[in-house]
Amino acid sequence: MEETPPQAAQASPPFPAVFTPPRALSSASARGSPTIPSPSGPAQFSTPPGPPVFSSPLRPAAVPFRTTPVSPQPVPFAPRTASSSSSVSLPTSSAPHFLNGAATPHRHLPFAAPSLEDSSVDSPYVLFSARKVLKQKKLLNAPSLGFGALVSPGREVLPGPETLERDPRRCLSCGAYVNLYCDVLIGSGQWQCVICKKMNNSEGEFVVSSKHDLLQWPELASSTVDYVHSGNRRPGFVPMSDSRVSGPIFILIDECLDEVHLQHLQGSLHAFLDSLPPTARIGIISYGKTVSVYDFSEGSAVAGDVLPGNKSPTNDSLKALIYGTGVYLSPVHASLPVAHTIFSSLRPYQLSAAEVSRDRCLGAAVEVAIGILQGPSVELSRGIIKRSGGNCRILVCAGGPNTFGPGSVPHSVQHPNYAYLEKTAMKWMESLGHEAQRHSTIVDILCAGTCPVRVPILQPLAKCSGGVLLLHDDFGEAFGVNLQRASTRAAGSHGLFEIRCSDGMLVSQVIGPGEEASPDSHETFKNDTSFCIQMHSVEETQSFSVSMETQSDINNNFVYFQFAVRYSNMYQSEITRVITSRLQTVDGLSAYLSSMQEDVASVIIGKRTVLRARTTSDSVDMRLTIDERVKDIALKFGTQVPKSKLYRFPKELSSLPECLFHLRRGPLLGSIIGHEDERSVIRSLFLNASFDLSLRMLAPRCIMHREGGTFEELPAYDLAMQSSYAVVLDHGTDIFIWLGAELATQEGQSAAALAACRTLAEELSELRFPAPRILSFREGSSQARYFVSRLIPAHKDPTYEQESRFPQLRTLTPELRARLKSSFIHFDDPSFCEWMRSLKLVPPEPS
Ligand SMILES: [Zn+2]
Repeated sequence: MEETPPQAAQASPPFPAVFTPPRALSSASARGSPTIPSPSGPAQFSTPPGPPVFSSPLRPAAVPFRTTPVSPQPVPFAPRTASSSSSVSLPTSSAPHFLNGAATPHRHLPFAAPSLEDSSVDSPYVLFSARKVLKQKKLLNAPSLGFGALVSPGREVLPGPETLERDPRRCLSCGAYVNLYCDVLIGSGQWQCVICKKMNNSEGEFVVSSKHDLLQWPELASSTVDYVHSGNRRPGFVPMSDSRVSGPIFILIDECLDEVHLQHLQGSLHAFLDSLPPTARIGIISYGKTVSVYDFSEGSAVAGDVLPGNKSPTNDSLKALIYGTGVYLSPVHASLPVAHTIFSSLRPYQLSAAEVSRDRCLGAAVEVAIGILQGPSVELSRGIIKRSGGNCRILVCAGGPNTFGPGSVPHSVQHPNYAYLEKTAMKWMESLGHEAQRHSTIVDILCAGTCPVRVPILQPLAKCSGGVLLLHDDFGEAFGVNLQRASTRAAGSHGLFEIRCSDGMLVSQVIGPGEEASPDSHETFKNDTSFCIQMHSVEETQSFSVSMETQSDINNNFVYFQFAVRYSNMYQSEITRVITSRLQTVDGLSAYLSSMQEDVASVIIGKRTVLRARTTSDSVDMRLTIDERVKDIALKFGTQVPKSKLYRFPKELSSLPECLFHLRRGPLLGSIIGHEDERSVIRSLFLNASFDLSLRMLAPRCIMHREGGTFEELPAYDLAMQSSYAVVLDHGTDIFIWLGAELATQEGQSAAALAACRTLAEELSELRFPAPRILSFREGSSQARYFVSRLIPAHKDPTYEQESRFPQLRTLTPELRARLKSSFIHFDDPSFCEWMRSLKLVPPEPS
């Protein structure tokens, strides 16, 4: 069609002819301003340009996107009946963990008599596997159960912690921070460190007449405080709760897509663009055999500069771009029409090469993007990284592997030298990721389609920069939602996470988005025993799983834990968040067990296990270690059944084995996922995920749609597959909607049920990153196997056992029960009860 703009690569003169000699430029925003068409005022923002031109009709990929927070009709949850509530063994929500927020200083009075039920245990940032610590070393350290915490230092909660505009006061001996549990001598102002017990001077600051007066210092009154480092606060500082100022976003687009994929991607990109705030700055690059950088200065025309893809960009070529007349990063309000036109102008792959064999210079394209994002500042201040305001993002939309130029691998894995070249490529990508991270740039790689993208090569780039790699079936809905969520998630950079514990507690393992920091990367103190982690990025959707052990039996009544994270937030302020927790110690095993938080313990165990499941054969081994673990927990913490060889699992941990049984069968360790690449992506997400997402990925949540549009939560057993109902199964990265065959025949009812389930699925995952794939299908369809394989097969269990674990069954008529029974195809997978008995254990009573 005539209005279709020409393809960028053809429209612009080849590199480097386009460049004009460098000349002085003031700033990126000044460069952007000429592109604002003078006559069009703000009205332009609300009326985007005419619809993009597509060569064939678009699939409605953009339909589910929302540019504003949704407020759909609430789908009421049915208040559970007495019978069904007793059957639910899975947690319905994590909310109870967060009810006692940290922002209730008066509950944490340090001088009140130590309460036995210490409410400060509950923090939005830290979840312990138990609220009490067992004094006996042998049992506390028992590796089958273990003790630990999940820490989300970057989590944002409202109201947030108190903000202090000064440097924190630290123990001169060990580096711990002053906190609400410190004993202060009000006459001299000296304070005692809770970690090393040394006395510290406050230079008279804490000299007051009564202990109560100490509460004027927020760090002596609440368990979490944020210190904003003075001196580098930017003039435009806005409190966290206000709108976020985000750094520039570079969108990198694969030029080698076939028509259908490209159409989906275009739909997603257009919707993404419309979702961005007008002040967001964007840049667009496409890559194939060359790197095309689109220029927003031309107004309505699509133009760009082309750089070679077979090598890294030279300093001269980057300089020419940065100091040239082109505008490569521009605020959305100034460039929305041209950005839409650029996306519409993308053309499908024209040559005849197969998908895997197409030349894609993904590595060079990321290098160019980093170079432009850095801007002139690198030149001006060598050694000191000057930030261009906010953390930058690169969003790569990839349909295939990096096969051309730096960091590439041969098209075929059959290449005689593939293994070596793969290793070299991984190394290169890892260092590119670190380079991005040094410049506060996060690289997210969003892949889609059926072409293998060679995950092992791309994963290090995403990981080391603090980003994620995601796989999608296509460039449609879930892909588009994830583009939006990737760009809006809050992230800090240059994070350093320190862990300190008192009384001989040691950190034995940390799993999460970072790596152990080298001692010279941070300030150390004479007797600093902290465990330090360099964080790749600081995000609210991530967490660290910290396993701890005691060196000897504990004598004191309390153990103290301090988690501190130092990072620059999205306003470029240096923040130090200090979270201090105190746990009571106990002698008795039952007091310890009843203080356990089963879900937290399950997630920590899950992460320790999945960490070791690098390959398919590893995951088979890990299934066996779960068996051993469950047996050992029963042996050490449970009881022997009289006159029998069977052991009874501790009743305080009754939901733990079922959770681990799900882990054993599910996508992380089981055989549900066919491709190892896909499993490795899910595994990496799980290891970094927040508590909520981790728990959901571990054990699915099963919710049945009932008459009248209500929902009932049920155990995730295959007995939920009742023909006259629809069922939603939330497994973290996937949400399935299963439509019973009988319901499917009733047109109006099934449509209403489907719509209600769909709304529920979107509500459940509204804040989740990555957004899950949401699939719906009918009973008996080929896709239904996705669903069945994630439920615990309980249909072979004896009736009394089914009824005790799945009481909803009792509400079915005999006829319906018979029909349900006959609907199952028998297979060899053991049920939960059978599995427990095979381990010589009595299945725990449902709690
Ligand atoms: Zn100390």
